[in-house]
Amino acid sequence: MQQRLSSPASEIKPAYDVVVVGSGYGGGVAASRLARAGQRVCVIEKGKEFLTGEFPSRLPELRRELQLNGGKMRSGSRTGLFDFRLGADIHVLVGCGLGGGSLINAGVALRPDPRVFVDPVWPDQVTGDGLLELGFGRASAMVRPARHAKAAELTKYRALDAASAAFGVPPVAAPVVVSFEDTVNPAGVAQPACTLCGDCCSGCNVGAKNTVAMTYLPDARAHGAEIFTELAVSHVSKGEGGWRIHFAPSDGKDESPRFVDAKTVLLAAGTLGSTEILLRSREHGLKLSDRLGEGFSANGDIIAFALGGTERVNGIGVGYPPKYVGEAIGACVAGQIELSDARHLDRSMILQEGVLPSALAPLLPVFFISGGRLIGAAHSLIKGVYQGPLSHLHTFFVVSHDEAKGKIRLDNGSATVDWPGVADEPVYARVDAALTKAAEAVGARYIKSPLAVTSMGTKPATAHPLGGCGIGEDAASGVVNHKSQVFDGSGESVHPGLYVCDGSVIPRSIGVNPLLTITALAERAMIHLARDHNLGFDTRPRVRAEADSAMI
Ligand SMILES: Cc1cc2nc3c(=O)[nH]c(=O)nc-3n(C[C@H](O)[C@H](O)[C@H](O)COP(=O)(O)OP(=O)(O)OC[C@H]3O[C@@H](n4cnc5c(N)ncnc54)[C@H](O)[C@@H]3O)c2cc1C
Ligand code: SF4
Repeated sequence: MQQRLSSPASEIKPAYDVVVVGSGYGGGVAASRLARAGQRVCVIEKGKEFLTGEFPSRLPELRRELQLNGGKMRSGSRTGLFDFRLGADIHVLVGCGLGGGSLINAGVALRPDPRVFVDPVWPDQVTGDGLLELGFGRASAMVRPARHAKAAELTKYRALDAASAAFGVPPVAAPVVVSFEDTVNPAGVAQPACTLCGDCCSGCNVGAKNTVAMTYLPDARAHGAEIFTELAVSHVSKGEGGWRIHFAPSDGKDESPRFVDAKTVLLAAGTLGSTEILLRSREHGLKLSDRLGEGFSANGDIIAFALGGTERVNGIGVGYPPKYVGEAIGACVAGQIELSDARHLDRSMILQEGVLPSALAPLLPVFFISGGRLIGAAHSLIKGVYQGPLSHLHTFFVVSHDEAKGKIRLDNGSATVDWPGVADEPVYARVDAALTKAAEAVGARYIKSPLAVTSMGTKPATAHPLGGCGIGEDAASGVVNHKSQVFDGSGESVHPGLYVCDGSVIPRSIGVNPLLTITALAERAMIHLARDHNLGFDTRPRVRAEADSAMI
């Protein structure tokens, strides 16, 4: 039986060696590696813990897990799994829960084009010391990207194949962090095989997705880390012999200040979360680089649709237990078309087919009717989305490059992104043109924004926020150095014991889905941290017997 990883908040101690704030990829890596190094580690996560089977599978459950935050406007629970940040120029979707974005992402794990790291925005050491390579190796060993052996047999893959005629480039199977066979993973956790239900983006109720909650966090727990959920960190300040981490219950009902002390703090609250915590810390007097909040990138990330074409797609999840029994759907992403531009990196893009979660199924006809784009949607309402016209709905995820010119700032105490003119970034026109061609190749209509009638409007949106605490040579060019240590605002000097370890340190778009790069950079940072503090840790997988006894 799956054990909870988190402990009641009342058990939090006054001090630890290490406090990790946030529990996505960066936080998971930090907690696992430093717990293995014998440090007394505490993880503080704003969201809830979800066990397998507890993810939303029906529309009312999904609605309860939505939070909308935009300046003074906010609705939904502060611990809702889907955290939408509505901005004046661009919206951002992030995951909130123990495991962060890994709980609701599609799990595509790709390495960037090597040209990404040639950009002088990265300090030379990042690729020069060989540890990033080691980081990618360790990240892959833990999250285990795999390609579904029979991807090409899936209906949605065949539909992508038909669309690929537009480019003359056939699709390939996409590597995803999914267990396609029963396994005991390197953290010693038993995972059943993927049922190809398609619901990866509302949370895997099978336990087959290799999330941070299935991998790094159980590993950290097994090595003694203490994990606390539903606590939000407001800011950090210098304390006696280290750092003071200020937090309060996430529900906002009890604002009486609480804190915990630590020699070392790793901010791993995600691109918006870590930047937000540092911006608030600066308001409390902490000296930081003026670059804080700058260099936000949406990673050229787009979701769009095509409908009414000749190809059956079967791109709506059935969930688990399945709501509809028919053909296998497949993991959220099974295939991708890699459109690499040898001369202009920024024009390269990857086009992936995607699946919408089953809990959204009742809403889909409504969206497409209200947009007036689908005459036959009523047919779908009657026959169900699995048989009617919506079974021909193509969902595309595209990832590419932008100019990373957004800026994160505080609005009413929480992060929002300013990026005037972002909709005119060349990437959006390029992607529109590519998706229009892909839709035409299957006789379908390209649908850019079916959410135009909602509070999302027609502004760009991203699920791949990067930057805000970018890596740089010094405080003039970055917020952290190549080891993820936070600059104290003057030259290359850093605040001892303060680190940022998540997507916020990535100083530019990377043109691929970012989980693997975030994890690799975090692994690299932990190797440096261990060396700098004479700590050692091994990365050997745990075995099941050891895992079972440790869980008792
Ligand atoms: C729908 C969707 C699909 C995606 N698909 C893919 C994909 O296929 N492949 C891929 O590579 N990437 C994908 N991504 C993006 C990927 O999941 C993120 O880039 C990644 O999770 C970021 O990791 P992170 O460590 O930076 O932070 P996160 O995973 O965002 O984790 C940060 C954690 O910190 C917590 N936190 C925030 N503020 C505080 C605070 N003040 N106090 C305490 N805790 C706090 C948050 O609740 C969260 O749990 C997708 C994302 C979404 C939303
Ligand atoms: S397709 Fe279903 S079973 Fe497979 S990883 Fe995704 S949610 Fe889990």
